Amino acid sequence: MKLNHTHDPAARSWVASANGHADFPIQNLPYAMFGKKGEYLHWRAGVAIGDQVLDLTALHGQQLLSGLEAAALEVAAGPSQKVLGLNAFMASGPQTWTALRHALFALLSADAPAATQAAVQACLVPQADAVYRLPVNLHNYTDFYTSIHHARNVGRIARPDADPLTPNFQWLPIAYHGRASSVVISGTPFHRPMGQALPPGAKAPVYGPCARLDFELEMGIYIGQGNDLGQPVPLERAEDQIFGMCLLNDWSARDHQFWEMAPLGPFLGKNFCTSVSPWIVTLEALAPFRVPAVERPAPEPQPLPYLDSEHNRTLGGLDVQLAVGIESAQHRAQGLAASEISRTSFRHQYWTVAQMVTQHTVGGCNLQSGDLLGTGTISGPTPDQSGAI
Ligand code: MN
Repeated sequence: MKLNHTHDPAARSWVASANGHADFPIQNLPYAMFGKKGEYLHWRAGVAIGDQVLDLTALHGQQLLSGLEAAALEVAAGPSQKVLGLNAFMASGPQTWTALRHALFALLSADAPAATQAAVQACLVPQADAVYRLPVNLHNYTDFYTSIHHARNVGRIARPDADPLTPNFQWLPIAYHGRASSVVISGTPFHRPMGQALPPGAKAPVYGPCARLDFELEMGIYIGQGNDLGQPVPLERAEDQIFGMCLLNDWSARDHQFWEMAPLGPFLGKNFCTSVSPWIVTLEALAPFRVPAVERPAPEPQPLPYLDSEHNRTLGGLDVQLAVGIESAQHRAQGLAASEISRTSFRHQYWTVAQMVTQHTVGGCNLQSGDLLGTGTISGPTPDQSGAI
């Protein structure tokens, strides 16, 4: 993904709140499915700009675009979204995604003609008035395990007598197939899970409420067009399969998880709830944040040829800054901001997003448009960079 004029840090929008906005400047333009508070089930696609949401259905009605740009908006905001969310737009592929990004950038640019600004202004909804749903109709969710620092931390707790790293970790991005039905939009409440746990030193498990609830700081990857059954996605085409990325919290009941997961992997310890952010940042918007993949000095194993390329080594990583805060009932009662307990970057992840897509499909598994891949807990090298308790 090459840099282009939509990444120019000097670009400004006529939407004043976008200029200097920490999350939603004109260079970002992430997608969500949103509605207005108090409205009944009228979900539509939107793009964040400053403290506003650009309503793509309303914009579609303004008929400001032509050619490929109009076709791209039709896919994102036309009738199919009512049933499919953003799935149809994700299935339309990188050319269409780029066409719409560049069209929206022009419409929102400070250079846009006054008549254009007035027409687009009528399509803005304050984020303060917006509510969100899952951006896609989610059929499949897979969670990877790609932070070597997290894997070592977990290994020391779960298998104190063994090598903290399992022998496969440095050879392939490992994962388990998760539960799509319990993936929810951020802020959705969930019940404290019941289940079995084996208390320390006990001979038999006890049944009860989770006593060791944990979070997992992750990013999520939304799949674009998908691949046919039996047609693996080679590494050089893997990034074309990624529509964009979100934030993801893989809630984990550690006491249940550690008792149940040998030998088949996570089950009830993970399937009660997974939260995702409403906003999806496109891979194109992340282009300025590309960095080299994690170095693997000898004698560390090097990736096998199907998981290795010059592009992946030099630009496969993403320097996305991430932080975790805990906001308790006491914080809220006292009017305090969340307490930050961790701060790290996605650049420390041992395997890249492209390697995850290729590994998922190398055996012939078909990814489908709108599928969600969790990256696995994102922990950096030091304890204050841990993405889980
Ligand atoms: Mn996880």
